[in-house]
Amino acid sequence: QAAQPGGDTIFGKIIRKEIPAKILYEDEQCIAFHDVAPQAPTHFLVVPRKPITQMSKTDDGDAALLGHLMLVAKNCAEKEGLKKGYRLVVNEGPDGGQSVYHIHVHVLGADRWAGPRL
Ligand code: 5GP
Repeated sequence: QAAQPGGDTIFGKIIRKEIPAKILYEDEQCIAFHDVAPQAPTHFLVVPRKPITQMSKTDDGDAALLGHLMLVAKNCAEKEGLKKGYRLVVNEGPDGGQSVYHIHVHVLGADRWAGPRL
C-alpha cells in the first residue's frame, strides 16, 4: 500500500488535487477525468481512489470496485453524449502498453470515431 492516499503516481496527485485535471465525475470510490493526450475525440479515464497498480494485482476483494468503475464509465459516457458507442480499455503491464501504474479504465469514443479494429 502506498504511503499517500491515492498513491504516488500522477493519478494520485490528481486524486489529491495537487495537479489539475478536467474532472467529469467523483465519488467516494473513484474519479473520472479527461485524458491529457486524447486518442479519440472523447477520451477520459476512470480511476479508483485505491492505488491498485494494475489489473494483475487485483483480487476477489476488488470485484465490487472493478464493477463500479465499469458502471461509472458507462454513466460518464452517456453524460458525454456517446450515444452510438465507445470502447473501454484497460492496459496491463509493459506488453499491454501501460504507462501509469495506478489502475484505470480508458473510455474512448465519439460520433464517427472507430479506432483500430480488434
Ligand atoms: P496507460 O498507458 O497507463 O494505459 O494510460 C495512461 C494515460 O494517462 C495515457 O493515456 C496518458 O495520456 C494519461 N495521462 C498521463 N499523465 C496524465 C496527466 O497528468 N493528466 C491526465 N489527465 N492524463 C494523463
